[in-house]
Amino acid sequence: MAGTLYLVPTPIGNLGDVSRRTVEILETVDFIAAEDTRITLKLLNHLGIKKPLVSYYRHNTDTAGNQILERLLSGESCALCTDAGTPAISDPGEDLVALCAANDVSVEALPGPCALVVALSVSGLPTARFVFEGFLPLNKKNRRTRLEALAAEERTILLYEAPHKLCATLADLSAALGGDRRITLCRELTKLHEEILRTTISQAAERYKTQSPRGEFVLVVEGAPAVEKAAATLTDGLMRVAQLQSEGLSRKDAVKQAAKELDLSRNDLYTAALEQ
Ligand code: SAM
Repeated sequence: MAGTLYLVPTPIGNLGDVSRRTVEILETVDFIAAEDTRITLKLLNHLGIKKPLVSYYRHNTDTAGNQILERLLSGESCALCTDAGTPAISDPGEDLVALCAANDVSVEALPGPCALVVALSVSGLPTARFVFEGFLPLNKKNRRTRLEALAAEERTILLYEAPHKLCATLADLSAALGGDRRITLCRELTKLHEEILRTTISQAAERYKTQSPRGEFVLVVEGAPAVEKAAATLTDGLMRVAQLQSEGLSRKDAVKQAAKELDLSRNDLYTAALEQ
């Protein structure tokens, strides 16, 4: 029987965030696949765990992924640890999960630290509906297309960013979304120098003109204001009925569908259609 791939989250800063189950799984698996074996070895030493490590990172996902899959298929169990946080979220772990899923190998995910969830919860911005964008594309054209799409996004937007790219990203966000948009910059989450800055995009850009950004960041950006849709009128309804009839629907069915699509009273629309 095939073994299991365990997705094991690791601290995003504070070593106290290792759960009991994380320790249990790391102790019991046959081997650990690590994005950076040096980082995972440090954690294992801290926890007093000795376990064989294999390297699984962005540039060896094909070869290492297939070797890990072979071992899983032969019955071994494996824990996947990426550098920090939850494996498969903006890191190479997603490829290994897809490979296991495609080969019917069971994957179990342990809940644990994830920078985007920590940032969203502390942001002070609406959390009910949000969209995670990971890192913005570096390619100019793709980046512009993405930013244009985000300008109208009504949900709270989450982005990961490296410190040396932060100023450029704030400038691009200001140009695409407007400088007055609220933003929460979450820096060095769970670490000694954690900082939560709730401000606007232009004020954030201003601040980092004089102070070079240090550490890791999650940006939580307020969504665009909701656009009120004008209520449809009976005239709109009649036009839609005519269009649906021309496509072959009976008057009754066309009225039923148009009323549903445009949120109109079916009776009123039917009466108006009869009077045509
Ligand atoms: N898998 C990880 C997770 O669950 O969050 C994310 C991996 S991604 C390669 C790394 C990015 O996560 C960083 O560039 C930064 O944007 C964000 N990040 C990770 N740790 C963080 C921290 N302590 N504070 C703020 N952002 C962090």
